[in-house]
Amino acid sequence: MWISACPIGIFKKDVEVHSISALQIMKGRTEISMNKPAIEGGTPVRNTKIYYGHQYLDQSDYDAVVDVLKSDYLTCGPKINELEDKLCKLTGAKYAVVCSNGTAALHMAAMAAGLGEGDELITTPITFAASANCALYVGATPVFADINADTYNIDPASVETHITEKTKAVVAVDYTGQAVELDRLTDICKKHNLVLIEDGAHSVGTLYNGKGVGSIADMTTFSFHPVKTITGGEGGAVLTNSEDYYKKLLLARSHGITRDTSLMANESEGPWYYEQVNLGYNYRMTDIQAGLIISQLDKLAMFKARRKEIVARYNEAFAKLDQIVVQKEIPESDTARHLYVLRINPDKLSINRRQFFDALGAENVVCNVHYIPVYYFPHYQKLGYRKGLCPKAEKLYDEIISLPLYYSMSDEDVDSVIEAVTKIAEYYKK
Ligand SMILES: *Cc1c(COP(=O)(O)O)cnc(C)c1O
Repeated sequence: MWISACPIGIFKKDVEVHSISALQIMKGRTEISMNKPAIEGGTPVRNTKIYYGHQYLDQSDYDAVVDVLKSDYLTCGPKINELEDKLCKLTGAKYAVVCSNGTAALHMAAMAAGLGEGDELITTPITFAASANCALYVGATPVFADINADTYNIDPASVETHITEKTKAVVAVDYTGQAVELDRLTDICKKHNLVLIEDGAHSVGTLYNGKGVGSIADMTTFSFHPVKTITGGEGGAVLTNSEDYYKKLLLARSHGITRDTSLMANESEGPWYYEQVNLGYNYRMTDIQAGLIISQLDKLAMFKARRKEIVARYNEAFAKLDQIVVQKEIPESDTARHLYVLRINPDKLSINRRQFFDALGAENVVCNVHYIPVYYFPHYQKLGYRKGLCPKAEKLYDEIISLPLYYSMSDEDVDSVIEAVTKIAEYYKK
């Protein structure tokens, strides 16, 4: 099996086939082994492996990429504006700045927010490292607030208790795609004069009180990595309603270089003239990526509907099991779900998360875990962070498994995952 070098996803390259061995049939063990977990020698629920996520591309996506390849512009071309306009229409945001990936989007947002040395940024530990790393990129300090134990999103009350005179921004992550409590977070940020950055890497297509994620926080970042709902291979975006942030984001994306005379220190010396007015990066997206993302966005409604359907089937099945805890959704969030997080109830099981995870793997349901609390990592330990900072997040991490959830899963796939989870949960019931 080939494992991708990407830290976020493990992708299949082969499919192993397990079938009931002739010996098992001869021994007449088939019936017993149906209920015995495969990890203890029983028959796996599935013959082929299923993985936790997979992108979905069709002919229109391939055509969109080839069209760009045959055009005059591979980068800095018309597809960039077209995608930015499309993201604005989709979300209701006034401005969109697309960029090379979701991490770059977070870095650009931290720069536009004016974060620097001595400033603090509050975020959740239950996220991909980039949500906190963006503070480190600009010399600021990440501070971790705890989660709500039911929704798994950052708890606004915990954010409030972590605010100091140094706090300048909050990065709130729409974990699994469910919107954070935007009304409460907006109130807190207004009251304390903080910039609210929403990390919407999981929540492209999610609505909060009927409004698109991207149109509500001061800035919202998206990712178009292949494990996310919409992909461009790599890609990211920052959305905002503020013209001031918009101008800063454009500079951050392209070396701090501008042709806008209103931003220049000197008179223009001719048509060739531009100025670098501050330090920026090359965080541009190619038109090849933009073309693919535009095409993918045409399928977003379809992706969202199917993901919702799968989530509903999982929730209905797992609500019946005491051994499993179902993630709570706030009514304000109409969620385009990116991840399905199965939470075990350790009081009702004789096995732990690792054993549950391995048992599902033996049934050919290959899962993942999202996320290891960011401050557990050696880099953060070196910076002085220690376990114990966020007890609810740490407990969640010990109990979660990301189940397969992606557009092209068949109903049989979904049923087999439910069957595998039910089989393991019942067999190891305490
Ligand atoms: C994927 C992800 C990112 C980073 O996005 P990339 O496009 O991979 O750089 C940031 N935050 C969260 C929550 C993510 O899931």
